[in-house]
Amino acid sequence: MEREALLEYIRPRMPEKRYIHTIGVMETAILLAEKYGVDTKKAEIAAILHDMAKYEEVEGMRAIVREQGLDTRLLPWGSEILHGPIAAYRAEFELGIKDEAILNAMRYHTTGRAGMSRLEQIIYIADMIEPNRKFPGVEPLRQIAEEDLQKAMKACIHHSILFLVTAELPIYPLSIECYNDYLGEEL
Ligand code: GDP
Ligand code: FE
Ligand code: FE
Ligand code: FE
Repeated sequence: MEREALLEYIRPRMPEKRYIHTIGVMETAILLAEKYGVDTKKAEIAAILHDMAKYEEVEGMRAIVREQGLDTRLLPWGSEILHGPIAAYRAEFELGIKDEAILNAMRYHTTGRAGMSRLEQIIYIADMIEPNRKFPGVEPLRQIAEEDLQKAMKACIHHSILFLVTAELPIYPLSIECYNDYLGEEL
């Protein structure tokens, strides 16, 4: 599917602010893909669709997890954790996107995971550093993303975990596995 058709598909599913964020993720992901030799079309598609399920009813998302046999660890979590896996599910079954690399980039864009592909890293990082993001500490992350993809992913997952711990929020198991993958040289 072409960019314009995908943008038309997601636009009514989110508030304007989220749509603007999505455009920022798309532009950032394409730049990172060019820089690091990753398929820019795949980056574009994953970026446009990554947050399309963000505003869905949580109970409806849980029903999909149960009925479609997705990871049952998702069930106690809210929309913040569910929207990536549900976006991947809808992209596959409603938009006919069969490319597992694209679907995984959407699926793991919030939590990360151990053994991330470069496309997955690009979507995770672009989501965090796109131009509309304003949190303290974003500037160094943008700088590292210019220099080294692996180091940028390490800095991003470190920042996320630190944020969650500081806010006394629970941490999804895949986020911990991601952190260990980047931070633990040898376990
Ligand atoms: P967004 O959808 O563009 O806002 O960004 P993300 O999908 O990356 O993150 C959505 C929300 O989930 C953010 O508020 C993150 O802080 C939060 N989040 C990410 N990982 C975890 C986690 O392991 N546990 C919890 N409780 N929240 C998380
Ligand atoms: Fe998201
Ligand atoms: Fe993110
Ligand atoms: Fe996002």
